Amino acid sequence: MSLSQIHAQRLVDFSYEESVMASQERQRFHSPLALNDNPLLEEYDVKFYGLDVRATDRSDKIGGNTTILLETKTNSFETLVLELYHTLDVKRVLVEGEEMDFSHQGEELYITLDNPVDSGTLISTQVFYGGQTGPGMVSERDDDWGVPVTFTLSEPFYAKDWFPCKENLGDKADSVHVFITTDYELMGVSQGIHTATTYLPNGQVRYEWKSNYPIAFYLISIAISDYQEYNITAQPQGSSSPILIQNFVYDVPGCLETYQDQIGVTIPMMDLFTELFGPYPCREEKYGHYLWPWGGGMEHQTMTGMGNFEFYLIAHELGHSWFGNYVTCATWQDIWINEGFATMAGYLATEFLAPEYAAGEREYRFNRALREPEGSVYVPEEDADNDSRIFNGNLSYSKGMALVYMIRFELDNDELFYLTLRNFLDRYANSVATGLDFKEVLEETSGMNFDDFFDQWYFGAGYPIYEVNWEQQGQTLTLNSSQSTSSTQTPLFRMSMEYKISYAGGDTLVRVFHGANEESYQFHMPHQVSGVEIDPQNEVLDGVADVKKSTGEDPVLFFMSPNPNKGAFSFRINDAEGLEAHMPVKLEIYSSSGQLVHSASYGSCLPFMDYPVHLDHPVKGLYYARFSCGPRIETIKVLVE
Ligand SMILES: [Zn+2]
Repeated sequence: MSLSQIHAQRLVDFSYEESVMASQERQRFHSPLALNDNPLLEEYDVKFYGLDVRATDRSDKIGGNTTILLETKTNSFETLVLELYHTLDVKRVLVEGEEMDFSHQGEELYITLDNPVDSGTLISTQVFYGGQTGPGMVSERDDDWGVPVTFTLSEPFYAKDWFPCKENLGDKADSVHVFITTDYELMGVSQGIHTATTYLPNGQVRYEWKSNYPIAFYLISIAISDYQEYNITAQPQGSSSPILIQNFVYDVPGCLETYQDQIGVTIPMMDLFTELFGPYPCREEKYGHYLWPWGGGMEHQTMTGMGNFEFYLIAHELGHSWFGNYVTCATWQDIWINEGFATMAGYLATEFLAPEYAAGEREYRFNRALREPEGSVYVPEEDADNDSRIFNGNLSYSKGMALVYMIRFELDNDELFYLTLRNFLDRYANSVATGLDFKEVLEETSGMNFDDFFDQWYFGAGYPIYEVNWEQQGQTLTLNSSQSTSSTQTPLFRMSMEYKISYAGGDTLVRVFHGANEESYQFHMPHQVSGVEIDPQNEVLDGVADVKKSTGEDPVLFFMSPNPNKGAFSFRINDAEGLEAHMPVKLEIYSSSGQLVHSASYGSCLPFMDYPVHLDHPVKGLYYARFSCGPRIETIKVLVE
């Protein structure tokens, strides 16, 4: 990587326990009408949202109007349905500047056109409304700084709580304007470029924000407070001009000083993610942060709400610029596309910029995922509108990260892994994707089959639990690995697995494919094995990570080398406890046809001493060496070449 790791020492001033904040990104309320399946919402395509709203830092009431430019998708289009929270009061509706009748029923606003129009017709409508917003807009005092803030948080289905819209993930607007009118001493922040500040009568000021990148409804936001602006720039390799990183912290003593250094970490992260994922999608406009009183972060496009500026939170939220914003989950059941990958982005930031924290961060994530022995990453149908399930920190974030991590492990080729990510981002740029869409790109890029992986890890529940027994016969190590699972819903995880084999003076890592619940692997092992460790590098989300398993009952006592040989070898007694020391040993060697070809007795064998053996006139073939030592009998295969 071109990134200097010199950064890491001064950048990292966090403990990974803090990263829990990111998984608290959403802990919210439940909406009675969460997912609207009204077919009339499918009859048009939103092109543009233009919000022109008035609010203050001390109230969750709103006033103003929203302009929506849309294109019809059916012939005889007559009834335009928008979504808008029931407590908001609609005052007027214009279509192409003409006053229209409307009806606000529950969370839906019905507008009937004078005349039906054909498919492909562009319609501009403007809704004037105001009053009490729903839970998607909050006015709260930030107790850390004593500063009131009004902000919106629309994910997953709370945009309609504060502006009329269409809450359909697949229908991104091509552009958005957000004009915020507020009190003169306050600032309002939103998406894209701050194009103008217009001073109005009566102590009011309007902040005008414009963004020309496609945007999902829930990534549109406003925040109003006594903010001060603090700008820095990044210029990742390959970018022709600097990228503005525009930050808004409270305009109170000490606030900027508190966060200034931490905000600076955004620059190497922008460099890193550009290198790994491709150019920052909104590079012509900006990336931004604003402080808010809420504990976690929310990746509002080009302008992320931040409860703090911890390393991990900055990385996670910036990662959403690619995963979540540029490519958005096609359904909330596929929230993995957003949160699994953003959590992986946070992990990757530690791996590259703060490597001493990477193993701990991964272990933390895996351990959280292990708290859910029955849960799946894919949000099941019955929970499709349950936002606490959609944003379950253990499943959508931590287990979601583990899946991306294990895909990298299965590929066993980082170049291919990052190429897969970039191919996926290219294909679904400015659009939406499901988990299976990612799988398709993954399979095309790698040439590998991930059917089992997605059945087990994405749609399936829980995780595998491994137990291994091993024995060594001469230079052959046999690992018997048994996989059970935490959930009966997924009885087997077919995947790669690593074992660390330790011996006196060293160890070696072996990688195998675990294709059945019971597997037996044999390895040539010219050293006396002292232990086997499952998944020693914590590459797999499994139930016994880091737990050593071995046959403790009856360890192999005799060791022979070399094997194969030319009829001359030596044997040794491995007896660390000294229990078998100084015991008489009898050795008998039989041919494969059962003929005794060699016999010798040793009055008192010392442990770890080599005792040479020479076969008379050895013939190539397989032999059996039978050792007797007190009640113990062991047989080792000997291959004479
Ligand atoms: Zn997130």
